[in-house]
Amino acid sequence: MQQIYDVVVCGGGLAGVCAALAAAENGAKTLLIERNAFPGGNATAALVSPFMGFTHEPEISRDEYGFKVYGWQKYLNSGIFPRIIDRLRGEGGMSKLSTPFSADPEILKYVLESMLVEAGVELLYAAQVCGVEKTAAGSLFTIEAVECLCKEGLRQFAGRRFIDATGDADLTSCAGGSFLMGDENGTTQAATLMFLIDNVDEAQVTTYRQAHPEEFEDSDYGTVSGFTSQIATAAGRGELPEHIRRFVLFRLPEQGRYAANITHYYEINATVSESVTKAAIELRAQMMQVFRVMRRDLPGFANAYISASGSYPGIRESRRIAGVTYFTVDMLRECPVPEKYLALCSYPVDLHMKNAPANNMHTMGLFGIPEGTCIHREFTNLYAAGRNLSTDRLVHSAIRVMGVVASIGESVGRLCLRK
Ligand SMILES: Cc1cc2nc3c(=O)[nH]c(=O)nc-3n(C[C@H](O)[C@H](O)[C@H](O)COP(=O)(O)OP(=O)(O)OC[C@H]3O[C@@H](n4cnc5c(N)ncnc54)[C@H](O)[C@@H]3O)c2cc1C
Repeated sequence: MQQIYDVVVCGGGLAGVCAALAAAENGAKTLLIERNAFPGGNATAALVSPFMGFTHEPEISRDEYGFKVYGWQKYLNSGIFPRIIDRLRGEGGMSKLSTPFSADPEILKYVLESMLVEAGVELLYAAQVCGVEKTAAGSLFTIEAVECLCKEGLRQFAGRRFIDATGDADLTSCAGGSFLMGDENGTTQAATLMFLIDNVDEAQVTTYRQAHPEEFEDSDYGTVSGFTSQIATAAGRGELPEHIRRFVLFRLPEQGRYAANITHYYEINATVSESVTKAAIELRAQMMQVFRVMRRDLPGFANAYISASGSYPGIRESRRIAGVTYFTVDMLRECPVPEKYLALCSYPVDLHMKNAPANNMHTMGLFGIPEGTCIHREFTNLYAAGRNLSTDRLVHSAIRVMGVVASIGESVGRLCLRK
């Protein structure tokens, strides 16, 4: 007889992992379906290592070099996310330096997977959601089963509640549910191929930063954002794409190892394979342009090497579901923290668009994400978790950060059990 799961979570990024953990820890028979053979989504597959958005007004002090040091004890949302951070720290997978936010992607895979296994979540890797079976009653649909392309062919998994944590709202799209994408023309934020650069001589970088503060953003020791003079020279020779104005590097827990968030591909449509392919090729070429300049021109990079690049281009934005609540910036001005919310967020609007100003961040203060943003308005049992909630794209650009999507996922995993 076919097994019926209480909760089927599609997509094992941070949101999906936390949704599955919350559901299983509350007694639900839970299946997590993921196309990769590891969890973490952008945080692991795309090497997006710095966790942001989980503190409010972090306590900032200065170290002996004048670099920022963040107090990172004050979590905005309690629950599973702080447990992930504790496990990461216990495994040495999170920097104890002044950037406490950056996780080692390999240890993160292990930590997330271990937590899922311990909680009794059934994991199914190498399975791509590609369809649903649904029934209709009046104006609402009910999903009965999700269809996946597995190694052995097409398979169906039946359930009572379905959580779309695919980031791209693939499940919603397969189910024929309404969604929005990007701006009024469907244009989305740029994709980025992140890469890890190892064997950087940090002492040389620090000495150079101290001598040339005008070339760097005022950040903490572990976040290096600058080298503007080298970039200007290289760009003048046509060796770098025009959009690169700073090299943004996040220190990982290991000495001399940084995650580079530098490349941008603006024409991405993450829901079309040809477009993802073009992006991957163009972004890898950009990565090599950047690396050649780094190794040749940056103090401390002469012996550096690329130890990894994302196994998938980092996708910031694609589909957003049509929820019971459509959360806009205007609503946020009226009522920053509604009575029922999924998670608190204090991250600013952060749109990576072509010709955006160098500083494109706009603070909105502390706000709560309304519960109705995760409930699809055309279905009885379809929920979203993560970056595909029902919001406008300005709100989307703030709530997509990892500290927030993890807490959203956890709330959705619990909320769906109440229905
Ligand atoms: C380049 C870049 C830089 C960023 N920088 C930061 C930063 O510095 N700090 C920060 O906090 N946030 C940052 N973000 C945002 C953050 O990484 C993401 O918004 C967040 O990780 C989204 O989590 P998610 O779980 O909602 O989705 P995702 O991480 O996208 O996870 C979706 C999961 O679903 C799986 N999946 C997708 N489709 C299917 C399918 N059809 N079937 C089965 N599985 C499927 C995917 O493999 C993936 O594992 C950045 C994002 C990018 C792209």
